[in-house]
Amino acid sequence: MWSIMPRLARLALCVPLASCAVSQQQEVALGANSAAQVSAQLPLIRDAAVTSYMRSLGAQLARVTDGRNLTWTFTVVDSKEVNAFALPGGWIYVNRGLIERATDMSELAGVIAHEIGHVTRRHSVEQLQQAQQANVGVSLLCTLTKVCESGASQAAINVGGTALFAKFSRSDESEADAEAVSTTVKAGISPRGIPTMFRTLLNERQSNSGAMSAFFATHPLEEDRIERTEALIAKYPAREITRLTRDTKAFEDFRRRLRSLPPSPTPRVR
Ligand SMILES: [Zn+2]
Repeated sequence: MWSIMPRLARLALCVPLASCAVSQQQEVALGANSAAQVSAQLPLIRDAAVTSYMRSLGAQLARVTDGRNLTWTFTVVDSKEVNAFALPGGWIYVNRGLIERATDMSELAGVIAHEIGHVTRRHSVEQLQQAQQANVGVSLLCTLTKVCESGASQAAINVGGTALFAKFSRSDESEADAEAVSTTVKAGISPRGIPTMFRTLLNERQSNSGAMSAFFATHPLEEDRIERTEALIAKYPAREITRLTRDTKAFEDFRRRLRSLPPSPTPRVR
């Protein structure tokens, strides 16, 4: 997951940052500004069938999460790179490259639920604050702003942005994984898609690390994350888990539709 913060949002935060927490209202404002920048800079899938399915699966998951009363937005980024990220306040993005690798609905649901977990646990907003306190954020943001102002292509930002993605801590990842397990179960979806998707990503990293670099740069993923997630799932009665949905025709139609769209723009670095 990565986070960006445009100038306006940065100014909206109180100073000094070390001494103040970001309110939910500020968090949403921050996310909204960043989301506007993402819309302007990244190639997004606008196809009605794709956006409608993504919205409905996202809503199915978001409605069983904590009661922070956020308005959630779920978007597919038209990129072959495998990645998913969330902005503070409830904007979730999944790259087409990740969805095309998901073998069933539960795998995509697990990724979305993991990103929702980063938002509900406030990792996304804390990450921005920490980056600013360490004075790292400013230079990262300036770099990003420069990229934006230079009028570079959308795809260049997609590639350049990879280096700007902040990395979540292992404990943030564990928390988001635990949220993903409980969220999928509550939504009636099998959590087994979470470790199986991780397995696919780890296997692919060995053979095709280029397309995976953005994901691994931001979401530390090793064997132990798979084991911990499997252990969490094992705490539920096996019969209960087996009853949950793994796949649907709607998901298969959605993935087929996505695969039928014109190829994603090729990233170019200037
Ligand atoms: Zn993560």
